[in-house]
Amino acid sequence: MIMLQREKTKQFHVGDLVFGGNNKVYIQSMTTTYTKDVEATVKQINTLYEAGCDIVRVAVLDMEDAQSLGEIKRQIKIPLVADIHFNYQLALEAIRQGVDKIRLNPGNLPKREQVEAVVAACKEKHIPIRIGVNSGSLPGRAKATAELMVETAKHHVEILESMGFYDIAISLKATDMNLMVAANRLAAKTFPYPLHLGVTEAGTAFSGAIKSALGIGIILSEGIGNTIRVSLTDNPVLEIQAAKEILKNLGLKDKVPNLISCPTCGRIQYDMIDIAKKVEQYLLKVNKTINVAIMGCAVNGPGEAKHADIGVAGGKGEAILFRKGEIIKKIKEADIYDELIKEIDLFDDRIEA
Ligand code: SF4
Repeated sequence: MIMLQREKTKQFHVGDLVFGGNNKVYIQSMTTTYTKDVEATVKQINTLYEAGCDIVRVAVLDMEDAQSLGEIKRQIKIPLVADIHFNYQLALEAIRQGVDKIRLNPGNLPKREQVEAVVAACKEKHIPIRIGVNSGSLPGRAKATAELMVETAKHHVEILESMGFYDIAISLKATDMNLMVAANRLAAKTFPYPLHLGVTEAGTAFSGAIKSALGIGIILSEGIGNTIRVSLTDNPVLEIQAAKEILKNLGLKDKVPNLISCPTCGRIQYDMIDIAKKVEQYLLKVNKTINVAIMGCAVNGPGEAKHADIGVAGGKGEAILFRKGEIIKKIKEADIYDELIKEIDLFDDRIEA
């Protein structure tokens, strides 16, 4: 795997995480619960955390939402971001409640004193601000271009800079993947701040994950970007799974298993598609750098998957189990799943790496 050269940006803390610079690219998601429903929100955040989410954002629509943030924060293990629009009182309350970052566009607040109050509170608690520009909500409903998106972000950035505030993250999101790519390339040249990447309103799980993987992947492969959010019209846990796949395939995340499975063909010897799907589900909970191969036949199986740490290649009513391309033993078709799981559990990536 080629190591990516990452763009240098300013860095700061988001909770316990060091954000920006050459640090890890963090996975974000956003809850779909009502934030004031603390129990449901905490439950969803903790499920996201277990799936691999590094930073979580919640929508703050009113004071009741804002006043729930402290209790939510106490019951979760990852940094909490408050997403606020147009209302500085909500931002001040969110900061009082101890959030780790706020998403707020200062240019959308009606008075400079209101921005000053938010900036002073953020400075005191070392809380960064994310400025978010979406292609669908540009001033005057102008046609979105990369230049206009960056100009709009610049307007918000300069307000914060004029108050001596520099702990800024920026997102430039578009539903059009090519526009998102162009805007982020330009943003990386324009700003010294970390970038939050995402294709907004990307769609449902399958098409949205592909669109996001392309847009986010192209930008990350150029060394740009410090955190990603895959936006899907589905359970946000799927956003985390998609984000992990993107980062893993770019070599930006370790301790994530990799499943190698053949597409099957006329040489197929056993019902491997169901087994591959079940193993993939199991691997979602495994925090190891491990390549697992599931191949349809013994003709090409071990050879095609010789880089796998562990794998099977099907025979008639049986399969061969192999490690690092070496055949270990024959197993019955009915035992393939259990044998693979046993091997995955035994595998120690600290020894094998
Ligand atoms: S491993 Fe065997 S079954 Fe799978 S695609 Fe290759 S030749 Fe076909």
